[in-house]
Amino acid sequence: MKHDVIIIGGGVSGTALLYTLSKYTNLKNIGLIEKYSDYGLVNSSPRMNSQTLHFGDIETNYTIEKAKKVKRYADMVKNYLEHEKEVNGDEGLFLKVPKMVLAVGKDQVKTLRDRYPSFGQLFPGLKMIGREEIGKIEPRILEGRDPGQELLALVTEDGYTVDFRKLSHSFAENARILNPGISIYLSTRVEKITRTGNNFLIKTDKGDYEAEAVIVTAGSHSLKFAKSLGYGKSYSILSMAGSFYTGPKVLNGKVYTMQIPKLPFAAVHGDPEVNNEFITRFGPTAKPIFFLERYNYSTFWEYWKTFGFGIRPLLSILKISSDKVIFNYLLKNVVYDLPWIGKRAFLKEIKKIVPKIKLEEIKFAKRVGGTRPQIINNETKKLELGEAKILGEKTIFNITPSPGASTCLGNAFEDTVKVMEFLSNRFTFDTIRYERDLVEPDLVPADNNVINPLIDFQH
Ligand SMILES: Cc1cc2nc3c(=O)[nH]c(=O)nc-3n(C[C@H](O)[C@H](O)[C@H](O)COP(=O)(O)OP(=O)(O)OC[C@H]3O[C@@H](n4cnc5c(N)ncnc54)[C@H](O)[C@@H]3O)c2cc1C
Repeated sequence: MKHDVIIIGGGVSGTALLYTLSKYTNLKNIGLIEKYSDYGLVNSSPRMNSQTLHFGDIETNYTIEKAKKVKRYADMVKNYLEHEKEVNGDEGLFLKVPKMVLAVGKDQVKTLRDRYPSFGQLFPGLKMIGREEIGKIEPRILEGRDPGQELLALVTEDGYTVDFRKLSHSFAENARILNPGISIYLSTRVEKITRTGNNFLIKTDKGDYEAEAVIVTAGSHSLKFAKSLGYGKSYSILSMAGSFYTGPKVLNGKVYTMQIPKLPFAAVHGDPEVNNEFITRFGPTAKPIFFLERYNYSTFWEYWKTFGFGIRPLLSILKISSDKVIFNYLLKNVVYDLPWIGKRAFLKEIKKIVPKIKLEEIKFAKRVGGTRPQIINNETKKLELGEAKILGEKTIFNITPSPGASTCLGNAFEDTVKVMEFLSNRFTFDTIRYERDLVEPDLVPADNNVINPLIDFQH
């Protein structure tokens, strides 16, 4: 079977691209291949991630530039969600709750206060509040807390808790309605991609497919496919599993803590569960594992193949973990997953948000929490922050740690522009309609230019 374009991976990234191509281009012959029997069962599942639509307002390790890009992309998802709700009613795609980042102690309070002028301008809904107002929104933050402790928070009403698996379904279903000709191959595992002249041959366990362009949105597996075609050789993956602890409803909304600037992982936060707001989830932890997919032990070998066997990735790991802040952080996080001691150690982190929470109130959430494919750049021997996009000849590979679910439509926008180029502009992308439907007017760039991908190279 031959397609103009094939998307590999049916998580929120792949289905967002399927939707964008189906709704905003006149391309018809599209295929999507997913190895599991349904969409969004890996990192996009609500069991696997923190369900937050990240805008960059309360993530204190984002620079203002990073926040601008993430906001633009998260706004697209917000606009899609709100439109779906308006048209179809509440389908359980999202919950809207208050969201805040909490600074505790003199140093954190100063850092947060200093961020407010620029971030408050970018996010007009963001308010800076003190102890009394914090207590009105989240009484359990104050209960049992030392009255002398300095507190400050940035708070917004735009706390979107999203079921990204349901969102994947919504994208795929809408794509099917708009373009009944698309081919979806579920329960079909891609084994190999090879070049055959101007096309790609995609070998799967159900037979072969051909495509002129291939977009890989297979999470950490994307780097494995990139390397097999000769791209992304200087990258490795640090697979950072995140676990959660759950407790009763002790918070009304999302409460984030201040992030450690050096770390590309979200600091511990408390969030209402999207499908049951009477449960509060705390986490995620961040523990390195040697699998591309959490709970899928057959991905052990694939992990090492993707990591690379040379000396350079090892030197990168040594350099990264020789940083005292990173080393201590990783060590602490390994402990959090251990039985008995883990719960007691993690309770201290939760108490930074809810001081009076009791040990008996929380429990380790079994088989909850996926793994984030953090990119190691073996040239700089550093961890990269956020998602990576590797651009090849008529092919793109998307590697999506957090906030990859929040930026799914923005990434789809970038990829759609490229797909048009790959197919020699035989088809058209209605960017004006896309921007009118999904982009907040104040941030539409005057020239409709694509914002640069984080990693964009060819070799
Ligand atoms: C602990 C944790 C917390 C997170 N919190 C947030 C958050 O709050 N907000 C946020 O925006 N992001 C968050 N993320 C990140 C977010 O979950 C991911 O960025 C997002 O789900 C990635 O979507 P995806 O479609 O790219 O990947 P996935 O959802 O992993 O989908 C990839 C798909 O590719 C398929 N696939 C893989 N290999 C093959 C193959 N050989 N053949 C066919 N199909 C294949 C897989 O089966 C899978 O369905 C978090 C991640 C973790 C682990």
